[in-house]
Amino acid sequence: MKTGYLIDMDGVIYRENNLIPGAADFVQALLATGTPFLFLTNNSAPTPEDLAVRLNHLGIHGLSAKHFYTSALNTADFLSETDAGCTVFVIGEGGLLTALHERKIANDAIRPAYVVVGEGGTTMEKLGKAHECIERGARLLATNPDNWCPVSSEKTRPGAGAIAAFLEASTGRRAYYLGKPNGYMFHRARRKLAELSLQKPDRVVMIGDTMETDIRGAFEAGIESYLVLSGSTQLEVIGDYVYQPNRILQTVGDLIEEIKTGIPATGHDGLPMTGDGPATPRSGSRHQTDILSFHKPRPRPAMTK
Ligand SMILES: [Mg+2]
Repeated sequence: MKTGYLIDMDGVIYRENNLIPGAADFVQALLATGTPFLFLTNNSAPTPEDLAVRLNHLGIHGLSAKHFYTSALNTADFLSETDAGCTVFVIGEGGLLTALHERKIANDAIRPAYVVVGEGGTTMEKLGKAHECIERGARLLATNPDNWCPVSSEKTRPGAGAIAAFLEASTGRRAYYLGKPNGYMFHRARRKLAELSLQKPDRVVMIGDTMETDIRGAFEAGIESYLVLSGSTQLEVIGDYVYQPNRILQTVGDLIEEIKTGIPATGHDGLPMTGDGPATPRSGSRHQTDILSFHKPRPRPAMTK
């Protein structure tokens, strides 16, 4: 049975500027065996070419733009499929601007059909213009629902979800959030994976480190999911979610042998986790769409001391 992989990047392949142990050998095994794979990221700032260069600097060679599918590409796919020839006012970086340009979606700062919000590229002046466009009837679209993104183990930065939330508050209009966990991201990625493959995969597996985006989105799109503990999720909190991964791995390194041999591993996947734990948990909703999720309530602190 031919398996194809959709692979999250941050927390799966690298953290900050460090490769996760086994990640380079994992990617080399995928390339050497001709296994279909696609990196899937909610970060709309870089182009696929930027990401190939970044991974090359980190020590993962042999990748090109075709191996990446970003929320910026997903947004450009969405607009060209649902409203070809539309116009947009964009808050975002090169990855988003390039993706829209390649789909021949024109910029319009006066009466656009959509305000499209990605990571970065924001000033108060741009937010003011976006606000005015929405007041004049533009619909609000965000590349992804991430409120914040990790920069280092101690540092985060505002994400596209936070910028969209600003405009939701100022205009009273709701944004539509593309990227993970939106099923459209997974459907388009699966289609792109099939187009890239010489032989269409019989099954597709999503590998990710975040329950709310990678695992939830895969589940809702009918795709198997493997959770890795090398990123944002600790083993103890997995039971808090109503959707569950099909497998839990310590890192993607656990998959190298089965990719090389084509025989799925049996038994334990290197659990429980040892060594350095994940980053310090951060309070507050990670994603704008978390309000729609169905988490079990977390244990309450004692009412009295
Ligand atoms: Mg991740």
